[in-house]
Order: sequence, then structure tokens, then C-alpha cells
Amino acid sequence: MKVVPSQASIDDDRRTGRRRFLQTAATGAAFQILSRRAIGQPWPRPKLGVALCGLGNYAHHELGPALNLTRNCELRGVITGSPEKGARWAEVYGFPKANVWDYGALGQLAGTSEIDIVYVVTPNALHAQHVIAAAAARKHVICEKPMAISVAECDAMIAACRASNVLLSIGYRLQFEPHYQELKRHAREKDWGAFLRMSGGNSFVMTELQWRAERSLAGGGPLMDLGIYAIQAACMAAGDARPLAVSAKERPKQRPEFFLDVEEAIDWSMEFADGARGEFSTTYNDKLNRFHAEAAGGWMEFDPAYLPAGELKVVTQYGPLNLVVPPSQQAVQMDDFARCIRDDAPSPVAGEMGRRDMVIIEAIYASAAQGGRRIEIAV
Ligand code: NAD
Repeated sequence: MKVVPSQASIDDDRRTGRRRFLQTAATGAAFQILSRRAIGQPWPRPKLGVALCGLGNYAHHELGPALNLTRNCELRGVITGSPEKGARWAEVYGFPKANVWDYGALGQLAGTSEIDIVYVVTPNALHAQHVIAAAAARKHVICEKPMAISVAECDAMIAACRASNVLLSIGYRLQFEPHYQELKRHAREKDWGAFLRMSGGNSFVMTELQWRAERSLAGGGPLMDLGIYAIQAACMAAGDARPLAVSAKERPKQRPEFFLDVEEAIDWSMEFADGARGEFSTTYNDKLNRFHAEAAGGWMEFDPAYLPAGELKVVTQYGPLNLVVPPSQQAVQMDDFARCIRDDAPSPVAGEMGRRDMVIIEAIYASAAQGGRRIEIAV
């Protein structure tokens, strides 16, 4: 997706580009890469070093394996509360046990040239503190979705990364997925007309109590965790636009003892320019994984819509759309971020996009709290 930066941020990027290069260069890898490129020699160490911050399910099942497939970056360390788990990761992925850090030691990364990127993959409410600490150590940062649990936190994260001249991107893997790229192409070129009707949602049945059902760690319920995928898809189908307004209603809880201080299910609508409209839902009490976008001249149906590589099924009015997909969405996402660092280019999934989605989420919650009142989104 092409995020169009403001002129101010383009100018700022131009001014800071040289400084950011020198900073990354000072950490080692990029200096070797870029200085060798300048004198026409092959790159001796072409990969940027990644440290995963948080070793839960997503790191274990997706990001670690993806880092075995990346071309431009590799796993060189971890940040974890469990030294034993960190040591196991060091053995499996072949990095020194000295590169296992505690969360409280994120600042020490400033002293290591092996790590260029910190990938924050902890519970939502911890993203802000971990991103800000990584930025203070002058490391580029990838932060998992949702970017944070409030717009104010997003602002602080963006400011911290700017102050340290490091890049910030969000783990929006589907932005790089070929079928979603096709959705964005249709939205951009309007060859079927604009997508005026959208629908879908993202849900699963939560059977065990976990941090995702606690406001203090999750920031909210399924909207933060799952609904955000439908928000992303809708904005893509609207031509990388933010909605003009939203309205929402929380459903009555079926398991109030389970979902004490977060929503269990919520339905919302999004209004975009030119009359485009989407109706969506998300719940921790059902199975749903779908996105539909319809224009006057054609439609796309994603079902399932938000799963890892090879598991998406997409149909258009012409039948199944079977585009060739890379083996790992996450590997493509991380390689693209490494490209941005090397080329000093803005990330197509920058912190500003994570912030945009948090603005939408806050508006959806505000509408639900006010009985479904239509809330306009400030530009
Ligand atoms: P998880 O519960 O499996 O892992 C969380 C990790 O954070 C664990 O290693 C845990 O030990 C650690 N942690 C550190 N401090 C903690 C604390 N105070 N309380 C609880 N855990 C703490 O969660 P997950 O499924 O790996 O999700 C982590 C993040 O990744 C979330 O933000 C989630 O939204 C995101 N995620 C993204 C995708 C995607 O497709 N992009 C998929 C799954 C999860």
C-alpha cells in the first residue's frame, strides 16, 4: 500500500535521511552494506539483525519460522522474561546466548551492533513501552497490531521513533499479500468502479481465559485483536482511505463472567467518501473470517480472509482467484521493512497507519458507548 506522506514529512525525511543512515551505519551492518555498495564491492553481510521482543505463540509459530525464510534480515537475538526460553531459541536459531535480553534490559541493545531491528510482539498494552525503549536504544522497530491501546500512545511511539531517527512499522502482513494487493489495485484503478458495499468480520471462540480478555493488557476485546483486520481490509478497499464516520453497537454478553471489562462482541459500520459503506462484526464467541467488497462492475469475496499464507480463499465474479503466494506473509513483510531501512524509504505500513486504525477503533468504542451515535472521524 502506498501511504502518501505529507510534504512536511517528506521534507523532514529528506533532512533526516542522512542522519538516519549514519545512525544505522553506526550499528554496523548498514555501514558495511552501504559503504561497500558505494565502492562497488559485494555486500559482506547483507542481512539486518532482528531481535524478537516477546516469545509467545505468534513469535513461535509464525515470526521465528518466517525469519528462516527472510532474505534481508535474520534472527540474532530475543527479549524475553524467561532466560530458559531465550536459551532454547538461541540454540534453535543459532545466535549467541549473550543475545538473550530481559525486557528491562532493552536499553542495553544500544551497545550491540548485531541488532538493527526490534520486533515487538508482546500483549497490546505493552507495545508502547517496548517500542519507546527500543527506539531509545536507536533500533528500528516493527510493532505488532494493534499498534497500541490508545491514539495517545501511538503519538508517543511515533514521536520516540522520530526523535531517534529510526523507522517504525506495524505488523500488517496482509498489506503485502497478493490477493489484497489485487483488492488495492481494483480500488486504485476503479476498473470495476469504486467498492461501494463492504461486509465481513473476524471472530473466534475464546475457550480459555487469557490476557486478550483483560482490558489492562489487551486495551479492549475482539475489536482490538480481530476486528482490526476488517478495518484494514475496508480501508484498503476504499483506496487506502480512512472512513468519514463510524457507528457501533456492542452486543449483550453471553459470558459476562468471562469478559469482565472488555466487549465480547461488537457490530459496526464504516462510511467512506462517495457513499461507500461497510458493515462488520467481531466476537470472541463465534467463528467468522470473511471480507466482501462489491463494486458496480465486480466483487471480491475473501473467506477465510485473514489467515496465514496459503490459507486464504478468494473468489470474484469470474470464479476462484488463485494468485501465487509466497510461503510466508511475515517474511515478505519483514524483508520489505529491511528494504525501507536500507533505502531510507518510508514503510508502507508505517506507524501513521497503525495510528489511523487506532483513531477508528477509538471512534467505534465511543459510538458503542453512546448507544450507536454516528461519530465523525477527524482527518
Ligand atoms: P501470547 O500470549 O502467545 O504471547 C505474548 C508474549 O508476551 C508471551 O511470551 C508472554 O510471556 C509475553 N509477555 C511479556 N510480558 C507479559 C505480561 N505482562 N503479560 C502477559 N504476557 C507477557 O500472544 P501472541 O498471540 O503471541 O500475541 C502477541 C502480539 O502479537 C499481540 O499484540 C497480538 O495482537 C499480535 N499478533 C499478531 C498476529 C498477526 O497475524 N499479525 C497474530 C497473532 C498475534
